[in-house]
Amino acid sequence: MTARTVLVTGGNRGIGHAIAAEFVAQGHRVAVTARSGEGPAGTLTVRADVTDTAAIDAAFTEIEEKLGPVEVVVANAGITRDKLLMMMTEDDFDVVVDTNLGGSFRVVKRATKAMMKARFGRIILISSVVGLFGGPGQVNYSSSKAGLVGMARSITRELGSRGITANVVAPGFIETDMTAELSDDTQAAYKKSIPAGRFATPTEVARVVAWLAGDDAAYISGAVIPVDGGLGMGH
Ligand code: NDP
Repeated sequence: MTARTVLVTGGNRGIGHAIAAEFVAQGHRVAVTARSGEGPAGTLTVRADVTDTAAIDAAFTEIEEKLGPVEVVVANAGITRDKLLMMMTEDDFDVVVDTNLGGSFRVVKRATKAMMKARFGRIILISSVVGLFGGPGQVNYSSSKAGLVGMARSITRELGSRGITANVVAPGFIETDMTAELSDDTQAAYKKSIPAGRFATPTEVARVVAWLAGDDAAYISGAVIPVDGGLGMGH
């Protein structure tokens, strides 16, 4: 295993926290961006909002000074603002796309400068089963998550020859604050439609992300890896 410098956005809670903890457990140098709170033990926490280009630039500069150039970037920070299309305002659409898709663009763009120089990089974008499956009330969210597939595939075509891979991880339903917002009835209905019959833990996503960043996944790029208990099969 080669120890890498890893950055996870939104590493203060939920899936991002679990991803950062997994990289620490595997012996990597790990930084997280957080708007509030802290990353797990053993990580460097830097303040940044992914909608703010200057804050992202400053976060990278701090990480480069303290841990070295970022070799693995996990664009995880994301939000939902679910509403039926007829009720969804342009602001509801814009803020979700600007955070989930725009935030990933800003972080990845800043990261690739050093990756190209090093002729090594691992880019992992946290999408969602909803990106390709769709979801009622999620026109904004699913658009932002589907966009990440095009982003990873374009990066792969642009930078694949420089030792850089770009992949998408598409979780299904994971036990975090995001799914805790759903009513008990909605959660029960979703569980019925998941072949595995349950939601996943954040660690089950984290282990797949860490594997994609490792030496064994060097020839995987432009892929969409589902971690969804079979929910999105075939899409
Ligand atoms: P949480 O709501 O638990 O955490 C979201 C994280 O993103 C927090 O760290 C939050 O920071 C951060 N974040 C949100 N907006 C910004 C911003 N503008 N700038 C910086 N950080 C921001 O979500 P999950 O852990 O559940 O989700 C993580 C990712 O996984 C998201 O991209 C989500 O879409 C995706 N996902 C989640 C699924 C699930 O079932 N939970 C399923 C499929 C995909 P703060 O604490 O400051 O708000």
